[in-house]
Amino acid sequence: MSHALYSPSRLAMLAKCRGFLSGPAGEAAERGTELDKLITATLNGESPAVPAEFIELVAFGVQSHRLMAEETGAELETQVFVRTSLHGVYGTLDVRAVNAFDGVAYIGDTKSGYGDRGEPAESPQLLAYAEGTLREYPSLERFILAFVEVDRRRVIRAELTADEVRAALPRLTAIIAAAREDDPLGYVSGRYCGYCARSVTCPAVVSGALAPVEQRPVIPDVGAMTADAVGAFLDRYMDRVELAEQVVSQVKAKAHAVLEAGGEVPGWTLVAGRRTRKWTSEAEAADVLEAAGLRNMFETTLVSPAKAEKENKDAKALIASLVETKTNPKLVKCEQEKELSQ
Ligand code: SF4
Repeated sequence: MSHALYSPSRLAMLAKCRGFLSGPAGEAAERGTELDKLITATLNGESPAVPAEFIELVAFGVQSHRLMAEETGAELETQVFVRTSLHGVYGTLDVRAVNAFDGVAYIGDTKSGYGDRGEPAESPQLLAYAEGTLREYPSLERFILAFVEVDRRRVIRAELTADEVRAALPRLTAIIAAAREDDPLGYVSGRYCGYCARSVTCPAVVSGALAPVEQRPVIPDVGAMTADAVGAFLDRYMDRVELAEQVVSQVKAKAHAVLEAGGEVPGWTLVAGRRTRKWTSEAEAADVLEAAGLRNMFETTLVSPAKAEKENKDAKALIASLVETKTNPKLVKCEQEKELSQ
């Protein structure tokens, strides 16, 4: 089978930015794929070996999909290939249950992580799966669409009529048309840029997150800022700063690689950094220095509580009684705090 030009999951990213190009799968994506596989296998009646840290997440995903499918009164299917009415738009959905007799279908997508997926009724991915399912079962009248967010332990659902699903086609077409145009002036940067293969050279990132010096904000008198001004400043700049840091570190790594390979980066060079010194051979140095009668050459320090516990598993209570625990509060947006505490 040929590769989809625009898979439903790709449409979801293209709706945010027409230039989005998936980079290599990172740790988060690999974790999501692993969770998907475990949930699919369990839904199919298998008993996969689930790592301890995934047990609750898999159980939540399986139970949620089963409950949603039960609403249709139909058998649940997993990893279903769906082809939409749009040329080159097809893909494999996570979970589906179709009751063609009663005219109702459930389409569910498992999501991991804490990203904002928006509303299922507005999701190009779910709408594309629903449209493809409607194409296959024209008698359907009602769709239950849901994101099963396993890390947040929540299900976001929406119900759409068949007419509402059909009405989404022009929107999906417009997303594809914009992606085909591939006009860099239409690129829109956001948090997702960190997952985009274009991020290092993308004009939207360079001009947006890394604004030229003359466009940077005047540095405020932080000491005189009111609490409202602090909140407004963070709202306005935090995302851009995080994105800029991400991109700058990638660009610096590239500059290092080019220069270390003997290439040139106009205007930039490598200089010796901070010097560090260490014994060529610690054992040999200890013997020689001790034999030479040098003083104060050894010191002993207490290992960390974690290491002490690891080495002395039977003495955890004693070690814990001597440990002071401090948490370092982290600054996050209020919505994020609510999500983390759910
Ligand atoms: S890096 Fe550029 S092309 Fe990629 S998603 Fe961000 S703005 Fe769009």
